[in-house]
Amino acid sequence: MTALVWFRRDLRLHDHPALRAALARDERVVPVFCLDERLLRGRHSSGARTQFLLECLADLDRALRERGSGLVLREGPPEYELARLADEVGADSLHFTRDVTPFARARGARVREALAAASSEVEPCGHTGLSAVEEVGALHTQAGKPYTIFTPFHRTWEREPRRELLGAPRKLPRLPSGLAKGRLPSLKALGLQQEVQRPARGGERAARERLREFLAKDVRDYGLGRDALGEDSTSRLSPYLHFGCVSPREVEARLPPGAGAEAFRRQLCWRDFHHHVLLHFPRNAHSEFQERYRGKLRWSRSRRNFERWCEGQTGYPLIDAGMRQLRREGWMHNRARLAVGSFLTKDLGIDWRWGERHFMRLLLDGDEANNNGNWQWIASVGTDPQPVFRRIYNPARQMETHDPDGRYVRRWVPELANVPEEYLREPWRMPTTVQREAGCLIGGDYPRPIVDHAQARREALERYRVS
Ligand code: FAD
Repeated sequence: MTALVWFRRDLRLHDHPALRAALARDERVVPVFCLDERLLRGRHSSGARTQFLLECLADLDRALRERGSGLVLREGPPEYELARLADEVGADSLHFTRDVTPFARARGARVREALAAASSEVEPCGHTGLSAVEEVGALHTQAGKPYTIFTPFHRTWEREPRRELLGAPRKLPRLPSGLAKGRLPSLKALGLQQEVQRPARGGERAARERLREFLAKDVRDYGLGRDALGEDSTSRLSPYLHFGCVSPREVEARLPPGAGAEAFRRQLCWRDFHHHVLLHFPRNAHSEFQERYRGKLRWSRSRRNFERWCEGQTGYPLIDAGMRQLRREGWMHNRARLAVGSFLTKDLGIDWRWGERHFMRLLLDGDEANNNGNWQWIASVGTDPQPVFRRIYNPARQMETHDPDGRYVRRWVPELANVPEEYLREPWRMPTTVQREAGCLIGGDYPRPIVDHAQARREALERYRVS
């Protein structure tokens, strides 16, 4: 008996139900990954994330080889490549981790059809492993409906039984002799470019190291420190969770007792919540969850303002710091993501989809469910709604609360490094003499604000008053 294990965004050996199931029943197991043009170059194309993916694949191949196997790489649509490979190795089953995105589900369905149409009989077997709970889709309200509010989802989520953790296999069956493994291409060969200057490194090994460090230190004070921009003490596990280099179930299982860990667990639940929402409301991928806003909001089409936002040149220090961190690291602190998201949609009145797309281009953790869910949330058009005014953030006040000593802003906006603390939140208020002393002329070294927040806030409230 031979099984294919189709890796997608579950690029690990630890706690991998699909791999375990294949090993339990088959003598031969062929791990395979398909590089799919539609993902590499589609609407969520990203050089930075693809580079991270390539590193994950190299690491997975290394770990598989250490155990006597290896990763088979194919370039092409899986519905074609997998059917061909199944034929070549005489596979009778295909194991994979179920995913929730509309694209993944449609692609999975095409693979099933292709296998059904092939001459050999190959049984497709979907497994859990994407979320902390077994099946995000299975949770439902007492009325049997999907959740659209986080708090009740969280209550149910906490009560859901969890499965046992699975270790990494020590040894794996050898690949069939004569099977061409395929070579991992470079980013350049894929026609993509690395746009991020200082990205984290991909792979299960790096993920486990990051998790170990976080559990050893920052998790204890996570509840207190998670919003402190200058501290940088969140886990930074998001790219690894996105690509499944570590399973959310394992991350959860290894949390120590305590308030910090509980606050962290709640964030893992947000991840499951957004996956639950996208699974049940796939049209969210393109349009507002809230029907009253669908196609009704009049967005600004100012390319100039959008570019200033992308470049971190808005004249609002916190916004510029966040956007520059994104460009530099392919990651941004959650507090900054909220501030820049509010600024784009409320202060600049620009369509949340433009922000969503820019994030998907640069984020190593760019994840359709999380990104879409959070953009809709901050644009006040999604699930878990609140009155619009609650999610219009004043950038100066946000900085006062979450970056009180300006450490985050000074790190990412070096022009402001010597600006005295009293002017750092609103540098345009600096008298000219102070500007000179600080070596930061407003309108020269650092831009004037591109909008007036108070005025923009009034306009936003008006814009959202759609009937
Ligand atoms: P930690 O604070 O250490 O949290 C641990 C994990 O919990 C994260 O790795 C993540 O998997 C999950 N998590 C935390 N906060 C959220 C949240 N609000 N929603 C969903 N999951 C969460 N997260 C992504 O993974 N991919 C995205 O594309 C993404 N886009 C976002 C866009 C906007 C506009 C906003 C406001 C948030 C977005 N987030 C996204 C959520 C959040 O900002 C990141 O998950 C978090 O900053 C990652 O850093 P961390 O791993 O240190 O998080």
